[in-house]
Parts: sequence; C-alpha cells; structure tokens
Amino acid sequence: MRSTPLHPVARLPEEWSASLAARGERSFTAKQVFQWIHRRGVLDPAAMTNLPARLREHLAAEGLGEVLTPERVHRSEDGTRKLLLRLRDGATIETVLLPSVSGPGSHAQLDADAAAADDEDDDAAAEADAAPRVRVTQCISTQVGCAMGCGFCASGVAGLKRHLGAEEIAGQVLLGRAMLEEGEELRNVVYMGMGEPLHNYEATARSLRLLTHPEGINLSTRRVTVSTSGLVPEIARLGADFGGQIALAISLHAADDETRSALMPINRKHPLDELLAALRAYPLPRRRRITIEYTLVAGQNDDPAEARRLAKLLRGLPVKINLIPMNPIEASSLGPPAQERVAAFQEVLTQAGYSCFVRRRRGDDVSAACGQLVLLGAKPKVRRALG
Ligand code: SAH
Ligand code: SF4
Repeated sequence: MRSTPLHPVARLPEEWSASLAARGERSFTAKQVFQWIHRRGVLDPAAMTNLPARLREHLAAEGLGEVLTPERVHRSEDGTRKLLLRLRDGATIETVLLPSVSGPGSHAQLDADAAAADDEDDDAAAEADAAPRVRVTQCISTQVGCAMGCGFCASGVAGLKRHLGAEEIAGQVLLGRAMLEEGEELRNVVYMGMGEPLHNYEATARSLRLLTHPEGINLSTRRVTVSTSGLVPEIARLGADFGGQIALAISLHAADDETRSALMPINRKHPLDELLAALRAYPLPRRRRITIEYTLVAGQNDDPAEARRLAKLLRGLPVKINLIPMNPIEASSLGPPAQERVAAFQEVLTQAGYSCFVRRRRGDDVSAACGQLVLLGAKPKVRRALG
C-alpha cells in the first residue's frame, strides 16, 4: 500500500470515479477529469471549463497542477531535442524527443527509437495515403539517478537519488507531446532514460496504464518499450500484468557471466541463465521480438568470440539486436571500440542469422543520448554546456 496519496495526475479513470462518486459528483465527471489531464494535457483545474466551480476548487485542493517544469530545451542538428525538467522537489531529470530520420540508411542512425522501428513496416502500407508525418519517439526517465551501478552509464555512476512517481513519468510524455512541432506525431515511447524502470515497478506499471489508456494519450502498448538491465522477477511481473503486450528491451551487454558482472553488478544477483529463462517465459505475442541492447565497450565485451557466444546464447529466442558503441562519459575511462571492431562484431551476428543493427547515439552535439544523462555532477562538461 502507498503511504502517500496518489497524485491526481497518476490516477486512472476508475480511481477518479471512486473518489468523485464519494463526493457526490455525477458519474461522467471522472472521465472528464481524466480526459482534461491525459487527453488534452491540461493540468490547471481553473482551465477545466466544463467542470463545476466546486469541483475545480476540489481538484486544486487535491494538488492537481504541473508536476514538472521545462527548464531548458537543447536542440541538436539532427532535430533531437533534449528537455531538462525540474521536479517539484528541485531534482532534475531529462527526456529526449527523437524525430524519425527519413531517407536511406536511416536505421543506422537510430537508437532509442529503434526498439519500435520494426513495427513501422507493418503500418507503412495502411498509412501510405495519409499526409506525411514526422514520427517522434520519446525517451523517458523513471528515476533520478539509478541504483544499478553500471560503470559505463552516467546514471549508474551517479547512484539513485529517488524514484519518480507515475505522475512524473507520464508527465514527461504530456510535456513532450505538448512540445511537438508542426507535422510531428508522438509515435513511440521508450523507457530508456535515466533509471531502471523495473526497480521502480509500481510507478512504471501505473505510468504504462496511464499512457496507453484509451481516454488519455492512448499510445498503443506495442509502441511502448520498457528497457531493463535484467530484474528477473519484475520481467515476469511485467509480462503477467500486461499480457506480454508491452515491448521489452534487455540491456545484455555480454554473453558470459564474468564479463556481464564486471559491467553490470545486477548480473551477480540475476545471472544470465536466470535472465534468459525469464526472456523465454515472457508472454510475447506472435511475430513480436524482444530487443537486445548491447553497448559495445572497448576491451570489455567487444571480442568477436563474445559475439559468437552471444549468437549461441540467444539461439531460438525471437530477438533483434541493437549494437550501441558506448558513448564516453566523464566519470569513466571506458569508451567505444574502433569502428572496424564494431563492424566485425555485427558481422558475426548477421552471419549467424540475427537481425542486428548498429545504433549511433543521436543528438550527441547536445549530449542528448538516452541512458547517458547529465546529472548530479556525473558529467560536468555537459553541465557547463547547459549553463
Ligand atoms: N536502466 C535501463 C534503461 C535505461 S538505460 C537499462 O539499463 O536498460 C538505456 C540504455 O542505455 C541501456 O541499454 C544502457 O545500457 C544504455 N547506456 C547507458 N549508458 C550508456 C553509454 N554511456 N553509452 C551507450 N549506451 C549506454
Ligand atoms: Fe541504471 Fe540502466 Fe544505467 Fe545500468 S545502464 S546504471 S541499469 S540506467
């Protein structure tokens, strides 16, 4: 049970129904309130013009209002926008908007948005007649910092400051949607920003329900991807709670326990055999695949022999593999392998029959790469750039 009352932005329509019915409000007001917040993105009760004044006052008294404030927007040359957001307690997080890159070879430039890219083909024919839209993928954070301690990750080096509430997770998308530009459409959401979503399971699951609710933003479940470093019990829980409908991305980064434990401390708790068993048990719908993220770190996990082990490890699983050359961070001397080494690693996996792409981090000129976020002094160079 939660000890603190649920923030109004985190409430689902049925929860509004219960609380508003108890106040003697008419039954349809619950849907109206939810729609104001999640469909229209209006968080100021005073602006909810079709609600009675006493109800608007009640909502204000309940604390309904903005949950995060955009502090800065950094635009990269490739159209990527990184939003620095301030939370009510003063902490800052980031979210990134990644417009789709059109043209040949565009796949090679995507990373966070790549998790959902496969789906695009399914829809292309159906939407061929529609006006051209720029599809935007939003990358969102679930924690301030992260407790998982991966050595190549700025959030991991920073450590966990606190979990985000569901209102702060969904709030990033409300804000991202409001900041879309002419011709853009919010298409995919990836939980690949700061934090480990499954370590903050309750709020993550609630935010998934909020974002996919038909009366709200109404994102399709298959266009929402949760990325995890491999919290085995919570992978099972996510699969059971959402019937496997939420797209899953696994940060694998190694194919043997020794290498993986050195990069990702979580592997000591949930080693590869456990993780692979959880992936096999995930109730994935037919024709869908799990995304395997593999951050290539020079001298750590980039040996062709490791690629061969990876090919063997994943045999029989419906996966697509994204290789991500590590983005250097100030707090670590680790770095990406040379390009030829990346290509050789990819070649082993392609030869073994896997769908395997190299995902370049986008928006690097403003350090907008997801999962590698600037906070808490972990990346002082970028902090200067922000100031
Ligand atoms: N905690 C979750 C989701 C956030 S991290 C997870 O680990 O999956 C999102 C992705 O960014 C992960 O695959 C992570 O390994 C990757 N990442 C983190 N720091 C990185 C860096 N410096 N360079 C490249 N990828 C990085
Ligand atoms: Fe946390 Fe993911 Fe970074 Fe690891 S890679 S420290 S799990 S955010």
